[in-house]
Amino acid sequence: MTTPPPEPLPFPESLCHRCAAPPRYVQTRTSVFIMCPLLPGKYPPQPVRACALFRPAESNPS
Ligand code: SF4
Repeated sequence: MTTPPPEPLPFPESLCHRCAAPPRYVQTRTSVFIMCPLLPGKYPPQPVRACALFRPAESNPS
């Protein structure tokens, strides 16, 4: 199950937003965290600019 991207996107330049992993968005009262289902650490330092596990998401052409 995925969660829809929040508005505004945290770290809009992050590779995670365009990844087929797919990332999950975890919202607290004050912050939004991007959780990666593939990485053991779950929360990569953002913004992710390069990732060996990145696969482009098909439904998001941006
Ligand atoms: S695999 Fe890499 S690019 Fe994809 S969501 Fe995880 S950390 Fe982000």
